[in-house]
Amino acid sequence: MRVVLADLKSDRGFVNKDTVVGGYGSRLDPFSRVTRIYAWQKRYFHDVPSVHMAYLASILARGGHDVKWTRGDVVDGDVALVLSSLVDYRHETAWADRMRSRGVKVGFIGITASKMPELFRDHCDFILTGEPEAGVMRIAHGNIPAGSVVSEQIDDLDALPFPRWDLVTEDRRGMLGIQWSARPVGGGYPLLASRGCPEFCTYCPHRILAGYRARSIANIVDELERLCDQHPRPYVIFRDPLFSEQRDRCLELCDEIAARGLTLTFEAETRLDRLDVELLDRLHAAGFRAMSFGVESLDPATLKKSGRRPIPQAHQRAILDHCQRKGIVTAGFYVLGFLQDTWESIAATIDYSTELGSTFAQFKILTPYPGTPMFKQLEPLLTETDWEKFDGHTLTFRHPNLTRHELKFLLGAAYTRFYVRPSYLANLLQIHDTAVREWVSRMDRRVNDRHTRQEIGRVSRPVTC
Ligand code: SF4
Repeated sequence: MRVVLADLKSDRGFVNKDTVVGGYGSRLDPFSRVTRIYAWQKRYFHDVPSVHMAYLASILARGGHDVKWTRGDVVDGDVALVLSSLVDYRHETAWADRMRSRGVKVGFIGITASKMPELFRDHCDFILTGEPEAGVMRIAHGNIPAGSVVSEQIDDLDALPFPRWDLVTEDRRGMLGIQWSARPVGGGYPLLASRGCPEFCTYCPHRILAGYRARSIANIVDELERLCDQHPRPYVIFRDPLFSEQRDRCLELCDEIAARGLTLTFEAETRLDRLDVELLDRLHAAGFRAMSFGVESLDPATLKKSGRRPIPQAHQRAILDHCQRKGIVTAGFYVLGFLQDTWESIAATIDYSTELGSTFAQFKILTPYPGTPMFKQLEPLLTETDWEKFDGHTLTFRHPNLTRHELKFLLGAAYTRFYVRPSYLANLLQIHDTAVREWVSRMDRRVNDRHTRQEIGRVSRPVTC
């Protein structure tokens, strides 16, 4: 049987799917000069291949099937499996319609098709609800489903075959490493050491498709070893929602990488309270070169209302300072527009993002994703009817204190204030010289004042950031 795996590339803005926003995906349609540059660099560094497709390719190839991968071309086959997203679902269903008109049976996988089957069911023969691997194992045995079918979560993740990147990516040997970015142009090799998240942030889709499970360290390092055999010095992107959830496991992972003499670099996403100086040192020695982490909001009360445990600022600053000393590239995530947010609280969060001094920052507008507790809470306030606008950059509900225009303005201001300041460049270039840093701080203040004057000229509200 020939199976087509479709991880379709969007033709509007910069779209990330697969493990981004739990699989709902995110779209950045640039809306200012700074976001245009930001989206441009994301296209080069963040267009990472789908780890779920690589798992499915492996399961199907193991079953003796012919696997064809596409990012947009219509490819003849017996069955096509399409990675679903919220932000680009119309493009995906249109592609599915074309495939079905050629006689191909089409199925959708992923969180969007699982939680919102109504968007897909008229455009496909089946939907695999849940994590797709168990359902695809049945397909590999020749059982093509019909309608909505539950694909049960696999508890023993070690039982899965390793992802087959050779079947779902273009030739990646030419990936170009750049010192300051850590991640090479063209991305790297995503790896899932665990799935789900044991935390309780009510806005987060990472915890709603399946429970938290982790692979054994031996199994993870077997996969790393295989990557090292196939590619010299691979750059690995751990896509676990909470990589350092279990400190002992992280230390064990570092030991095993060292024991097997693997030469690789890697990045991961985690919470800052799940890191300490000793752990960072051990991770760095094993090849850890970049990390992303959520700050979300400066206000602990706002975070608590959303089920998120706040992390003391002193700890956040200590971890970031240590990362800077070790040369670990950092990216902070911020969410604007929590129900408790006001213009002033968002201004304070933006200020904090620049003070904290991560190498990069990502700002999004609070989005209630279907299936999350936050969605239930905000459902009566929803104003947006186009699901593709649930993209992380659009206000989709009636906010008690801010209009859609005001939040978009603040989002733009956040990007401008973070990326158009001398210390952004100094952090990027890893300049630590004290005299230079003092001069950069003075320049930061002048640039900040200029931003304030420009913003006052553009909005009627008082600008306090
Ligand atoms: S810590 Fe919170 S935001 Fe992060 S993955 Fe877990 S539930 Fe989601």
